[in-house]
Amino acid sequence: MKKFIYLFDEGNKDMKDLLGGKGANLAEMTHIGLPVPTGFTITTEACSEFYNQDKKIWDELKEEICENIKKLEEKTGKTFGYGENPLLVSVRSGAAVSMPGMMDTILNLGLNDITVESLAKITNNERLAWDSYRRFIQMFGDVVKEVPKYKFDIIMDKVKESKGITSDLDLDVDDLKLITRKFKDLYAEETGEDFYSDPMEQLVSAVKAVFNSWNNPRAIIYRELNEITGLPGTAVNVQSMVFGNMGTNSGTGVAFTRNPSTGENKIFGEYLMNAQGEDVVAGIRTPESIDKLAEEMPDMFNEFMNICHILEKHYKDMQDMEFTIERGKFYMLQTRNGKRTSKAAINIAVDMVEEGLITKEEAILRIDPKSIDQLLHKTFSKEGLKEAKEMGEGLAASPGAASGKVYFDCKAIKENGGGILVRVETSPEDIEGMNIADGILTVRGGMTSHAAVVARGMGKCCVCGCSELTINEEKRELESRGIIIKEGEYISLDGSSGKVYMGEVPKTEIELSGAFEKFINWVDEVRDLGVRMNADTPRDCATGLKFGAEGIGLCRTEHMFFGEERIWAVREMIVSNSRLERDRALAKIYPFQKKDFHDIFELMNGKPVTVRLLDPPLHEFLPKGEADQKKLAELMGKPFSSIQERISYLHEVNPMLGHRGCRLAITYPEIYEMQAKAIIDAALEVKEQGIDVKPEIMIPLVVEKNELKYVKERIKEAIEEVFAKKKTRIDYKIGTMVEVPRACLTADEIAEEAEFFSFGTNDLTQITFGFSRDDAGKFIKEYVDKNIFEKDPFISIDRNGVGQLMRMAIEKGRKTRPEIKLGICGEHGGEPRSVEFCNELGLNYVSCSPYRILIAKIAAAQGKIKQSK
Ligand code: ADP
Ligand code: MG
Ligand code: MG
Repeated sequence: MKKFIYLFDEGNKDMKDLLGGKGANLAEMTHIGLPVPTGFTITTEACSEFYNQDKKIWDELKEEICENIKKLEEKTGKTFGYGENPLLVSVRSGAAVSMPGMMDTILNLGLNDITVESLAKITNNERLAWDSYRRFIQMFGDVVKEVPKYKFDIIMDKVKESKGITSDLDLDVDDLKLITRKFKDLYAEETGEDFYSDPMEQLVSAVKAVFNSWNNPRAIIYRELNEITGLPGTAVNVQSMVFGNMGTNSGTGVAFTRNPSTGENKIFGEYLMNAQGEDVVAGIRTPESIDKLAEEMPDMFNEFMNICHILEKHYKDMQDMEFTIERGKFYMLQTRNGKRTSKAAINIAVDMVEEGLITKEEAILRIDPKSIDQLLHKTFSKEGLKEAKEMGEGLAASPGAASGKVYFDCKAIKENGGGILVRVETSPEDIEGMNIADGILTVRGGMTSHAAVVARGMGKCCVCGCSELTINEEKRELESRGIIIKEGEYISLDGSSGKVYMGEVPKTEIELSGAFEKFINWVDEVRDLGVRMNADTPRDCATGLKFGAEGIGLCRTEHMFFGEERIWAVREMIVSNSRLERDRALAKIYPFQKKDFHDIFELMNGKPVTVRLLDPPLHEFLPKGEADQKKLAELMGKPFSSIQERISYLHEVNPMLGHRGCRLAITYPEIYEMQAKAIIDAALEVKEQGIDVKPEIMIPLVVEKNELKYVKERIKEAIEEVFAKKKTRIDYKIGTMVEVPRACLTADEIAEEAEFFSFGTNDLTQITFGFSRDDAGKFIKEYVDKNIFEKDPFISIDRNGVGQLMRMAIEKGRKTRPEIKLGICGEHGGEPRSVEFCNELGLNYVSCSPYRILIAKIAAAQGKIKQSK
């Protein structure tokens, strides 16, 4: 027959799946000799069987419970439901994954009109006995029979009121007897039957209630929110009671071995004297800080400190514990690895390495890379969030916390020197405004929408795709969840949760600790994968360098075309009809480009810089409004109609698959020639200043070797002109983005021309799936919700499809050119799972936005550690 019950001394901490977390740890503590009241665990398999049996406790299980109760009787010398020394138990839920407060617990089970008298006698404490009895009836009524808890509370309050007292502690034995009687009456009234006096009957219905609580609405919602799936059910722990309410030398409390908010290596917790179980958290009385226990009961405190020490050494992690003191004897009732903030997580991991508890590798594996976000950005204060009114939720596109006045266009943002930019979506024209804005909120768009990508690059807080929000351009106001915010009024954005709040929510400062630096040094020692940044401006570079970027993996040049002063020259270039005209316009842009590259090379001080030549379709640069179009015509001395003609000529039905990337250079080679010259010219200048420069010129959207060959020849010729003019040379590389499936398929041929590959996984994902990046936001969530995709492939690399293409490109590329340098510069370069995959693929580096560098570094180290295990 299958075994459904384990005594605490039969289990251990590795049996969480079967015994639940609480049960497994109670068993483990029993094993290592800590004072744990004895008991047994009914397995999670029994819970699943319970559901198979139409929610009935079947006879064999009842028998097994009886047998184990007998064993408890032997161990404790007490008897269940009768006798001079009655055995009382708690019935506690506990699944494999902790779900604090979601399921039910019953204390003092085994009490009835007879055992309550024996308990009073043997403990010589009548008050304790009746206090425990009334608690039991209340919990049992609430949990097993769904008698509303507040009805019990009303009875308690009335008795206290009639006696003119406020504290439960002032209730005397007679009061408690009275309350018990009234509780029983209430129970009978509500359930139509008398309170169960048979303890076995009590126990079986309590077990049943705990099994049932696995599927109560709050437990179901908790599992959904925390993505807890695939568990069979909850275990039930039946444990002999100890009494924290036995008088002034008794008490109960909860504590962490270290501070869960700061990580400080100092016990942190609360306790109450003369109290039972949940009194500490229920807020009926204000608990004392655990420090006070050191004065009040030094022996108990010292014993507890010793236990903390043993537990930490044993679990090698910070513990979250429950304890009870019964008449000067200390008992452990629970332990588990404690939840903590990311700040505490780092501090604790580093301390534990230094204390010799864990290795550096273990410390690295313990940190969730994504949680680092919390450390790098100002966050809203906990108190602030409690008070704040939530008015919407979108995608957590770029972390940070921003409050500011709402503006609906970049002009207003510029005029006001900041604020929250709220738009349906953003476009490249908005860059300047986005740069000045304190935060960005969009109605449409996904994690790789323009707003999201740009905001992450800028390290700017951004919530995008907040579809419940509507913007009324005419009235200059927005509406969401019935709240209306007029232009100039405040809202707050939490870029780490995607939530939008009304008004200005207060913030707290960040500081990176010494422990954090140490931790990152270990990460750097361990990892093989390089980490570069995607950076377009000196400001991005400075940020990335601060976080330890090892180079630039992607410097986009299109943003450089958008500055107020140069955009008109760019426009001139685009509407030019002849090579001559175009060259004239390009000559105007040249000094700007050169200056941009100069500043970046200087800052990067010898670290490699990959510059991607112009990628977007040309019409994106052209003026949209008629006034600007007229201005352009005037500027160039051309008829307005010819400008209009050009604009309509350039219009594309599907720009994503249109005339962009190196396709532009096939038609207008002079654009890339100008850019290449500017890069090399700037590099030579910086080299003259005695600073090392490693330029890498990257050609986007290549699909075919001959295409790259053509562009490369033109670029090389142009660069030779610069060398000849300056009478000096510099080493440079020319490589390509690999972002179209055909480039992967023909990577062996392309590698004949390319000195490096950089995977552009945004486009590669888009084209492999045939999902437009700009439109997929509308339906991809459904794929994830309906379990068709495990993850959004734009967020986490699709290993099966896109990953296979990457693998092929790497193999083919290395076959042709063994020393070829391989990197990735899509948004995936900063997503932990994708970074681990890149490590697995053996890329040389990942490149991500500056604020994700530390995340990528940690993920890279974790990938390496997991691989070598
Ligand atoms: P939760 O998972 O909600 O914390 P628990 O099962 O841990 O529920 O129990 C709730 C409270 O009851 C805790 O404070 C715990 O310490 C106390 N408790 C549980 N079992 C016993 C027992 N055998 N003796 C004394 N107190 C107990
Ligand atoms: Mg607990
Ligand atoms: Mg691309």
